[in-house]
Amino acid sequence: MSVVALVPAAGRGERLGAAAPKALVPVHGEPLLVHAVRGLLAAGSVRHVVVAAPPDHLDAVAALLTPLGAAVHVVAGGPDRTESVRRALEAALSFAPDAHVALVHDAARAFTPASVVRSVVDAVLAGAPAVIPVLPVTDTIKRVDAAGHVVGTPDRSRLRAVQTPQGFTVDLLRRAHAAAEGAATDDAGLVERLGQTVATVPGHPLAMKITTPFDLAVAEAVLAAAGTGQEET
Ligand code: C5P
Repeated sequence: MSVVALVPAAGRGERLGAAAPKALVPVHGEPLLVHAVRGLLAAGSVRHVVVAAPPDHLDAVAALLTPLGAAVHVVAGGPDRTESVRRALEAALSFAPDAHVALVHDAARAFTPASVVRSVVDAVLAGAPAVIPVLPVTDTIKRVDAAGHVVGTPDRSRLRAVQTPQGFTVDLLRRAHAAAEGAATDDAGLVERLGQTVATVPGHPLAMKITTPFDLAVAEAVLAAAGTGQEET
């Protein structure tokens, strides 16, 4: 059963404050996007990876990814993450019309261990149509109103921080995107709107999202200490 991976990487990454798009920012000697795509391929089951790149950096992104092989493709991303995923999905199905599983993986989660990719794929293959990796939340989370006043404290034991790759049957991901009205911050959110159950598997601290200069410094420090760019647990 073939697996395709879609990598939305078309954001500007303004919170990182870099001159280049975030996906092209180097960590541990290589751009985040290269680490992310290599991690997906390292899981072993992904047949095609389609990267949605910033439209004005298509050639640069394609040149960076060429060394990773012919299974990696680049398309122009859209104006928001949801549209970038939709465009990547369309392209992936043109390369692999028989694909059964689609992973959606943020380029910003560049150091996600292959074991997390594999457990998401395995859970979809075992029959869960939508699967996300999650971690327990350690901070207490508050809901606030527009003025910043606290209006509620959700029970922390029932909260989870959500990572990627998120895995879906191709059919469900297509239906979720076809029905989507407006953008969403993750694909599972679109699936939830269809009333479909989303299963969870354990995430990993290394699947952290690199958003701010602090995150970048943490990633550099962790990788320097580990002496590797990709954990293989
Ligand atoms: O903005 P945020 O951090 O939620 O973006 C998540 C992912 O979506 C990033 O990897 C970013 O590159 C991608 N994205 C995209 N197309 C956009 C905006 C964001 O592919 N237009």
